[in-house]
Amino acid sequence: MTDMAQLHRKEQIAVLIRKKITQENILTPSTIAKWITYRGVDITDRIITTQIRKCDFEPKVYELSSKRDLKGADNSQAALISINDPIALGYLVTNIEMIRAKFKTLIIGGQIPSLIPQKISKMFPYANIFVGECEGSILRIINDAIDGKTGQIYTAPIVDLKNEYIIPDATYKPSGIMYSAELGRGCTHGCSFCGMPPSSKKVRIRNPEQVIEELDRVGTRILFVDPNISLYPPEYLEKIFGYLEKKGKFWTGEGSSKELIENPGIWDLMSRTCIGFLTGYEDPKLVELRGKKNGFGVLEQMNGAFVLNSAIIGHPKQDENSLLEMAKVFRENNLTGVFHMYAPYPGTRDFETLKKSGSILENNFFRYNRHDVVVNTEMGIKKTREIFRTVNRTAQTITGTLKEILRMIKNSSSFKLAFIRIASVIGIRFRNYMMGYKIKYTKEEIIVPIEID
Ligand code: SF4
Repeated sequence: MTDMAQLHRKEQIAVLIRKKITQENILTPSTIAKWITYRGVDITDRIITTQIRKCDFEPKVYELSSKRDLKGADNSQAALISINDPIALGYLVTNIEMIRAKFKTLIIGGQIPSLIPQKISKMFPYANIFVGECEGSILRIINDAIDGKTGQIYTAPIVDLKNEYIIPDATYKPSGIMYSAELGRGCTHGCSFCGMPPSSKKVRIRNPEQVIEELDRVGTRILFVDPNISLYPPEYLEKIFGYLEKKGKFWTGEGSSKELIENPGIWDLMSRTCIGFLTGYEDPKLVELRGKKNGFGVLEQMNGAFVLNSAIIGHPKQDENSLLEMAKVFRENNLTGVFHMYAPYPGTRDFETLKKSGSILENNFFRYNRHDVVVNTEMGIKKTREIFRTVNRTAQTITGTLKEILRMIKNSSSFKLAFIRIASVIGIRFRNYMMGYKIKYTKEEIIVPIEID
């Protein structure tokens, strides 16, 4: 096929899609979209890839943190840049000149631009900023950018997941052990440190038949990336978990245990299908953060799943005693922790409050890495780091780990499930222990201070 014929074919496809969806959400034949990501939420990457492929274009993906990758990128029309955490923003600032030299137009979206769109627009006035869920409008935004409309801030309408969900391209990034999928979006808990944009407060679920259709095509290990699956109707979860059990598939996800325990049917299904469940540890010192994931509910009625309790360290309300007390609670109850240093994202309620009181120590977003100190505490930076290490080292014991392994062997419905659970518990507990000794604090030479005000 000649170039012209190929072009013509693309035009035809473009016209067909335009007619079909009766919108102008279509890439013009001159558009070649490239996708730059930094530890992208791979579902978003796959949804965007699906949308762009509909127009018969093959997007190329570059890693935002890799200078080599970006240098190798061929000059092109549009770069779609996904910024889902402050570190990614650091890389964008660091590499912006190279990106601008390669790409005619920039479209920046993701979690951080959704939280602070005006500030991001001020930092990158030549870019178009995208707020919210991208699938319905991304093609129109690419077209606008190609047409020379820059410096715009777009706010996407909330997607009707029941009727408009686009199944992400399963062939994109197929290398991970787990296939990430989502059952729905949104969480009503309103934690003050939460990095989800305000539009995500409403809980929405996908059509279960479509979820099953998607999961039928993929492997046996599913990672649900939903912020809080416990908020979905029980009959919905029963249908999905029941399907997974029938097909011999396993899942990992995040939620609050209370709602799941209240429904014995779901709790049983969970015991037979869930590899690991991420929930929260409610530090009594931090009640005002409204962390409601409630990991302790699980302890009262443990099923076979591997439960991870995420816990914050280094909030100004905490002191040495309260943190050592927390480590004791973990030890005595044999909880597995995911400890991270308190680092609220710019734009969250906590960040703004702490900023006003002068407690945010860092404008250098490379330090928002879960083990550096970015918020001032009464203990000071050195002591806070020391306590972080102590908690990681002492919250779990070898005897406790052996008990967990025995519990999993006893409560798992198959050898395979027991094996995956045991490997996960050993891996995470070992990682925690090592964090108690070795922490690679950010190297000074890659530090780029970023003032976003
Ligand atoms: S429970 Fe999680 S997702 Fe929900 S508001 Fe709190 S931090 Fe955000």
